[in-house]
Amino acid sequence: MAPRDGARTPFTRLAAGGRPGCDAQTLQALIDNLPSGVTFFGPNLELIACNDRFRALLDLPESLFVDGMPTLVTLARHLAARGEYGDGDPEIQAHEVIERYREMRPHVYERTRPDGTVLEVRGAPLAQGGFVTTYTDITDRKRAEEEAKRYASYLGAVLDSMPHGISVIDERLKIIFANTRIAEILGLPPGAFRPGDPFEAVIRHNAERGEYGPGDTEPQVMRRIDLALKFEPHHFERTRPNGHVLEIQGTPVDMDGRKVGFVTTYTDITERKRAEEEVRRARDLMTEAINASAAFVWELDAGGRYTYSLGAEKLLGYSDAEMIGRRFGTFHEDCADSSAAGDPSAGTHDAIARGEPFKNVTICLRRKDGTTVYLSSSGHPIPGSDGRPAGYRGVDVDVTELTEARMQLERQALHDPLTGLANRHKFLERFTLECERQRRWGSPLSLLVIDVDHFKRVNDGHGHLVGDVVLKRVAALLDGTVRRTDLVARFGGEEFIVLLPETDAEGAAALAESLRTRIRAEPVRAETGGAAVSVTVTVSIGAATMTALRPQSFDDLMERADRAVYRAKHGGRDRVEFAAAPPAG
Ligand code: GH3
Ligand code: MG
Ligand code: MG
Repeated sequence: MAPRDGARTPFTRLAAGGRPGCDAQTLQALIDNLPSGVTFFGPNLELIACNDRFRALLDLPESLFVDGMPTLVTLARHLAARGEYGDGDPEIQAHEVIERYREMRPHVYERTRPDGTVLEVRGAPLAQGGFVTTYTDITDRKRAEEEAKRYASYLGAVLDSMPHGISVIDERLKIIFANTRIAEILGLPPGAFRPGDPFEAVIRHNAERGEYGPGDTEPQVMRRIDLALKFEPHHFERTRPNGHVLEIQGTPVDMDGRKVGFVTTYTDITERKRAEEEVRRARDLMTEAINASAAFVWELDAGGRYTYSLGAEKLLGYSDAEMIGRRFGTFHEDCADSSAAGDPSAGTHDAIARGEPFKNVTICLRRKDGTTVYLSSSGHPIPGSDGRPAGYRGVDVDVTELTEARMQLERQALHDPLTGLANRHKFLERFTLECERQRRWGSPLSLLVIDVDHFKRVNDGHGHLVGDVVLKRVAALLDGTVRRTDLVARFGGEEFIVLLPETDAEGAAALAESLRTRIRAEPVRAETGGAAVSVTVTVSIGAATMTALRPQSFDDLMERADRAVYRAKHGGRDRVEFAAAPPAG
């Protein structure tokens, strides 16, 4: 703001007295180029000079300056009336401003203007009377300071809420920062690890209370100070006298390639160590238990491939490593044929295909050496994130001995021990099944009763053992001649029964005839008392057929066949006789 009346203003005096050689114009030019607002008030509180920056900062209207410079009173009243000094009586506020100037004492204060900008106002009395005041817009600086303060408090809160103790020491090993958790972790009284304290004090305190174990404290302190002064990254674990385990990790802080400090984190890993130890023990225990037992623990991925295997070798001959990546069904191949009970592995495959658990399903697997092993398999799906199984987890137990014993018992329960043919029990089971099928499909069904002729003579002539050989041979001939769908059984003695599903009288007759001729045509060779004998036997056969239209009970059908045999015997033996049609009704 250029003075309007140049040399006549008191500014001239001020300028002349304050700075020899510096005239009013020079001074005005100077303050016009300052980044702050500047005012000069004379001893009588008259405004001598100010710059544009001042007018702009305070939004002073041109009208205040039309009659030359306004007085402090005018200015203060104008500003108070505009609410520059906040709420309150503008007259009183203006009065206070004027009083402050009258005191002629240096002052610095910040004022927030109604529009939110913050001004720093600095006033200083002049030696020759009057007052110079600068007004600086510090809004941005304040905002930046505020932001920095805010972030510092966020950072502090974050660091304080961390489960780790965190400290920062500078290059002279003075503590710069420590969060609240650090004292807790190190077992120090609250506030013991304070910014400003020497790091050495903490170390010495620790050494004295035995934190670094027994021994002289001084060497312990020195060792740690030496290590700290190296400013090298470090990572170690330390077990405190109270048994807590600390993980301590230090990272040097560089600034422009110079080491300026060290950040250290202290983590209480006692629980983690304990959990790790427990996991390790549980795993060892499981491994030992699995290896010592007849069990095999496994996991499959969603594609049915082994991803985990423990204990496979003793069951399957494949090492656990060899199992990984193999398909679940790989070992199940071919085994179904070796089992008497159909495909025992189907249960597991079906359950896995449906994503269902399965329990104690006996499966049959082929070992690496080609032998067969029976396992009792249990498994359940591992839940995946998409609701579908992510795989299966299960355990198989070797039940080979048990299964083979059971299969043996089952065989014994259903078969004749001498000839291996089905016994009465198995035959009746099958007969019931075939009757149901007959009802459903309407096909005929025939029965042959085959009795060896004069068998007593074989026993009497050659001995019971030769008799047994003959019975076995006849059984094998019968079994080898009938169709796969037919069933030959021995009910006892020298009598055999053949069930012929879907066979009418004509078919039964043809088969009976071929059986009869084959048996008489093939003499049985046996040994008795070291001598070979050849025995020829004949059979009498009674055949009975029932149609779907006239179903009969087994006993009725059997009785008709028996009667036919009787007739064959009386007719001269070595022949086939047919049962009469069942009585009507
Ligand atoms: P037929 O022509 O009238 O049938 O005369 P058969 O001698 O065959 O009939 P019979 O019922 O009089 O005799 C059957 C004989 O079969 C009597 C019995 O000792 C013999 N037998 C029954 N079971 C066995 C067996 O398991 N082994 C032996 N070696 N003989 C048996
Ligand atoms: Mg008989
Ligand atoms: Mg007989």
